[in-house]
This record gives sequence, structure tokens and C-alpha cells, in this order.
Amino acid sequence: ARAWHLKSRPEAMPTPDNFELKDFEQTPLGDGMVRVRNDWLSVDPYMRGRMRDVKSYVPPFAIGEPMQGGAVGEIVESKAEGFEEGQLVQHMLGWRDEAVLPAAEAIKLPPLEIPPQLALGMLGMPGMTAYFGLLDIGQAKAGDTVFVSAAAGAVGSTVVQIAKAKGMTVVGSAGGAEKCAWVTSLGADAVVDYKAESDLAAALMKAAPQGIDVYFDNVGGDHLDAAFAAANPGAHFTECGMIGGYNSTDPMCFKYIMNLIGKGITMRGFIVTQFMARMDEFQADMGAMFMAGKLKSEETVFEGLDSQVDAFLGLFSGANMGKMLVKL
Ligand code: NDP
Repeated sequence: ARAWHLKSRPEAMPTPDNFELKDFEQTPLGDGMVRVRNDWLSVDPYMRGRMRDVKSYVPPFAIGEPMQGGAVGEIVESKAEGFEEGQLVQHMLGWRDEAVLPAAEAIKLPPLEIPPQLALGMLGMPGMTAYFGLLDIGQAKAGDTVFVSAAAGAVGSTVVQIAKAKGMTVVGSAGGAEKCAWVTSLGADAVVDYKAESDLAAALMKAAPQGIDVYFDNVGGDHLDAAFAAANPGAHFTECGMIGGYNSTDPMCFKYIMNLIGKGITMRGFIVTQFMARMDEFQADMGAMFMAGKLKSEETVFEGLDSQVDAFLGLFSGANMGKMLVKL
């Protein structure tokens, strides 16, 4: 089997030299284990954090070892009761063409007539992030004005659609006219093309003259600062991600941060795994909205294991609309 290995740790923006695609010795298939032919591999911004040798909520990737990440595939061999050949499963041994793992670490995909890769996107981890980040962490409710950054990405585009389905006014931001048009087509009331604006705070205040009640932060930096400027008193900020800073060695600077005090803003960070116990609630509500046609899922697909590093690096240059995936 072949897997991407971490070769070296980047200081700033990773480059293809930090990764190596090579054969690895596959784990023997012991009792209680399954062999999975991976069909879909996920690339996610959090993987950049795992390239760093620091203590975090997930351990760092080890130099010289196969990398890991979300994957969906089909069981091709099983020594585990209740797991048959042909069953589609989701698991965390991505970045490789074939995975051998304990069946207990594989999640069976429900036999629904939906594309299996949705388990890596809108109906999986990014979807849960959007759902609980908006409704639980952000306390967003009907009538609120929500600002969401990276609104054309996997999490952001889901936030836009959940917010619209639940009666909120939505302002998104994204890079480039094409992405902004797509975010508008998802129902956003206004979209700011941050690449075309020299003063993001002014552009946001113009797009949301009524102010924002909730900010769903995927970007940090200038976007977060603009949200401080545009926030209404008592606003809630969901600190989901700060991708603008993941490859930067510069400190983030804020001009409007003191609004936190005067406007009584609540900022709260979270990691989606803290909501695992509420998976049923997510699946019931999102599943119903999806089946009712209220949610549109978009994907950007790179072909073949060889392309996975390009797909991953593409997250940081905005090469994706919707969920970034690799199809094997
Ligand atoms: P996306 O699909 O949104 O892909 C990343 C997007 O970020 C790009 O398409 C790009 O869009 C935008 N981007 C990249 N660099 C910058 C930059 N310097 N400034 C502004 N925008 C930038 O990824 P996800 O939906 O998977 O993740 C979105 C955010 O959510 C990330 O910050 C991620 O870390 C976070 N996250 C947090 C989780 C949690 O548990 N807290 C779980 C999952 C994700 P554009 O072309 O518009 O610039």
C-alpha cells in the first residue's frame, strides 16, 4: 500500500517537499480488524496544525510516518463480526490507498441514497462544525444577522445554508467574484469579496448596516477585526478557525478589539469533537433539511492519491468551492 508521509515540518506555508508518497508496510489483518480500500480522502485545514510539533487537541503527525485524516472506503476483507465485505465505512486512516484498522474504529455509513463522500463534508465533521458552531456556540436564532467568513468553503457554505433555513440574515465573505456569486446563490443576503476590498471593516459595515449579532469566524485576523467593528451590543462570536493565521509567522493585530468590552461581546472557541454525543440531533435535523432540498453540497475533487498534497495546499490558496476532497 502507498501513503503520504510527513518528511519535514514547515515553518510557514507548507510546500510539496514537506511530504513524501511511498510504500509502507501494511498492518497485518488481525482478529476484529478490517481492510478498507479507500475511495475518498479528506483534506482539512486542521491538518496544518498536526504538522507542528506542539501539544494540541490532536497529537502531531510524526516525521517519517504515514499521515492520517478522514476517509471513506469499502471493506475488502474482514475478520470482524458484523462487518462484511462491500460495507462502506468512514475512518481516520486517510492519506493512503488502503487502510487496515480495528473495526471498532470504523463507522458504518447508513444505507442511504446519498453520495458516500457527504460523510466527509456537509453530513460529517464539517457539517457538524457548522451546525453546533452556529446554533450552540454562537447562540444564533431567527432574526439575527450572521456574518460568516470563508463562506464558500465546506464549513462556511453550510453555515450560510443552515442560517437561512433557520430564518437568519446572512452576510458572507469569500475570495473572488465567482465564489461570492455562488455564496449568493446559496441564499446569502450580502457577500463581501475580501480580496477586492482595502478596508474590510468598512465593507462589512456597508454590507450589514444593521450590524451583526453573530460572527462565525473561520479566518481570524482582518476578518475578526472587521467583525469587532460591525458587532452589535451583546454579539456572540463563534471561534471556529483562523485559517488566515495557520501559515503565518506574524502576530495578529487588531484595531477594533476594544469593542469586546464596550459591546459586551461573547467570544467562544470550540472543537467539533465536543459535540460527538449530540450526533443524533445533528443527523436528524440536518438529514431532514438535506432530504427536503434545503441544503446544497458542493465539492472540489482532486483525482488520485498523487494529488492529495496539491489538494491540501489548495485549501490555503482558496482552490476549493465547498468541500475539498480527493477521489481515488
Ligand atoms: P474550507 O473549505 O473553508 O477551505 C479553506 C478556505 O479558507 C479556502 O477555500 C479559502 O477560501 C479560505 N482561506 C484560506 N486562506 C485564507 C486567508 N489567508 N484569508 C482568508 N481566507 C482564507 O475549509 P473548512 O471548511 O474545512 O474549514 C473552515 C475553517 O473551519 C478553518 O479555519 C478550519 O480550521 C475550521 N474548522 C474548525 C473546526 C473546529 O472543530 N473548531 C472543525 C473544522 C474546521 P477563499 O477563496 O474565500 O479565501
